[in-house]
Amino acid sequence: MRILIVEDEKDLAAVLSELLEMEGYYTDISNDGESGLDNALSGIYDMIILDIMLPKMDGIEVLSQIRKNNISIPVLMLTAKSEIEDKVYGLDNGADDYLTKPFNSKELLARIRALSRRKEKTLVEENMSFADITLDKSTYEILKDTQKIKLSKKEYDLIELLILNYGKVVSKESLVMKIWGYDTDVEYNSIEVYISFLRKKLKAVGSQIHISTARGRGYTIKENKNG
Ligand code: CA
Repeated sequence: MRILIVEDEKDLAAVLSELLEMEGYYTDISNDGESGLDNALSGIYDMIILDIMLPKMDGIEVLSQIRKNNISIPVLMLTAKSEIEDKVYGLDNGADDYLTKPFNSKELLARIRALSRRKEKTLVEENMSFADITLDKSTYEILKDTQKIKLSKKEYDLIELLILNYGKVVSKESLVMKIWGYDTDVEYNSIEVYISFLRKKLKAVGSQIHISTARGRGYTIKENKNG
C-alpha cells in the first residue's frame, strides 16, 4: 500500500514516513499543497494523509480538487487543535477521517488500518478507457473491440500511470519509484523490458496507442491517429 503524506512540517513528515515504512507501507512526501495535489492526481496512491495548513494551496482545497477529479481514495486530514472548524469542514468536503495534532503513533496507525479496510470493502473495480482501449482493473486486461489480452500487475500499473499522465513525459525514475517504490532493486533496464511487453500487447489487440520513448527522459503515451 502506498501512502502520500502532504505535510509542510518537514520533521513531522519525516517521522510519519519512517513510522509508516516500518509498518510496511510505501510513502512519498509532498511539502506543499500544489505538489501534493499533483502527486495525488497521479492515481497511484491508496491513501493520503493531508495537513490542512499548507503553503501554496491549503489542504481543504487540495481535498476538494482530489474529489473533483473523481479520486475516491481515503483521505486522513491532520488538523491543529485550533482548527476544529476546519476539521468539520474537511469532513463535509470529502475527508474520510481526521486526526488532531499532536497525535500518538498508535492512534495514527489504527486509523490508517481502519481506513484501508474501508477502502477494500468499497473498492470498485473501475475500468479506465483511453483512446481505443479499455483497461479492466478486475482482470488486468486490455480490451479492444472483441479482443483482450492479459497484463501482469506491473504492466497494468505502468500503462495506467502513463495514461493518467497523458500529454506528459514520465521519467523512468518516476515510474520505478511509483510502481516499485524507493527501496526497490529493480533495474532501470527492466522498465524497458516491461515497456516492450506492453507495446507488443497493444499491437496484438490492434490498438492505435503507442508508447514512445523520449530519449534520456522517459516515456509518453500517444494515440496514433493515422493508424
Ligand atoms: Ca502545516
